[in-house]
Amino acid sequence: MNIAIKNQTIQIDGSQGEGGGQILRTALSLSMLTGIPFELFNIRAGRKKPGLMRQHLVCVQASQRISNATVEGAELHSQKLYFQPQQVQAGHYDFQIGSAGSTILVLQTLLPALMMQDRVSQISIHGGTHNPMAPTADFIEHCFLPTIHKMGITVDFFCEHAGFFPIGAGQINATIHPWTKQTKYTAQDKGKLLDMVAYASTLNIPTSIADRELEVLNNKLDLTQRKRLNFRGISQGNTAFVVLNYEYHQQVFSALGEMKKSAEKVANDLAKEVKAYLHADAIADEYLADQLLLPLALGKGGEFTAQVISEHTKTQAAMIQKFLDCEISFENIGNIYKVSVKV
Ligand code: ATP
Repeated sequence: MNIAIKNQTIQIDGSQGEGGGQILRTALSLSMLTGIPFELFNIRAGRKKPGLMRQHLVCVQASQRISNATVEGAELHSQKLYFQPQQVQAGHYDFQIGSAGSTILVLQTLLPALMMQDRVSQISIHGGTHNPMAPTADFIEHCFLPTIHKMGITVDFFCEHAGFFPIGAGQINATIHPWTKQTKYTAQDKGKLLDMVAYASTLNIPTSIADRELEVLNNKLDLTQRKRLNFRGISQGNTAFVVLNYEYHQQVFSALGEMKKSAEKVANDLAKEVKAYLHADAIADEYLADQLLLPLALGKGGEFTAQVISEHTKTQAAMIQKFLDCEISFENIGNIYKVSVKV
């Protein structure tokens, strides 16, 4: 890891690029890793309700706790934040979001700093586990973590209780191991499709919803298997997801049940996303692409192909290059993209 600048507070405009919460989370992760303080203004200026929402605030508080940071502006709706970390401490931590905010986004904020320590950390986070506009616990377990494991990062992950909006009350547990053997990640080809499994689950609502989703997915996709999962928890909700297991890559697409959206429509939309991926020649979908940039930049770099380069991915690349001396580039090859991270 090569640090871009030293002994200077980095100024970050939160309205840059897609102007969302990821700018804050990436700034926290990189500040803890490099020790560089930052001042973030115009927080989430690109959003309808700008400033720190509950889940963003918990990311700040959790980061403050593991790095004993000096923080100013950590309040709900705050649009300005100063964060100066000290040495990150590995250990046992328990964080409560206190709403259905995404536990996964809190985990992804803390993971880079904790995996760089020389002791194991165990963390539990309480809140939402299946949120719209965030990776679900299933995406993390079956896609993000298996992919970063190829770079040498080991995290044992378990979704103890599922948590859906508005109650939340989910719980994830993660054991983060020190990243001792960093491996360059080069993934140009996903290899042969070995199997494609569809899962669906309901929590405290009729299980027939999951069965209907699995029926549609089975009709639309050439599935190897379909499985109904049992979730535990006190909130109500539904999710369906498809795991595509290739020789060299495992990709997940997930969908959440919504009020006034039929189970058939949820499953149909999900099947469309899966089909688009099956026809593309890329390794990473839009979401995995933005999530892989930081681990690559912290390790030995590498390359992969992506279906789409979102505004989110471009903003993430710009943020990483503010803190780290690395080069992230996107090259259009046919109808997909090659992503390179040189460290
Ligand atoms: P804001 O409320 O400001 O929009 P946010 O904090 O909710 O921001 P974003 O900045 O939109 O979050 O970042 C969301 C993250 O969730 C991104 O890393 C994105 O890749 C991931 N994500 C969104 N949808 C999915 C999905 N369907 N599957 C996997 N990951 C997803």
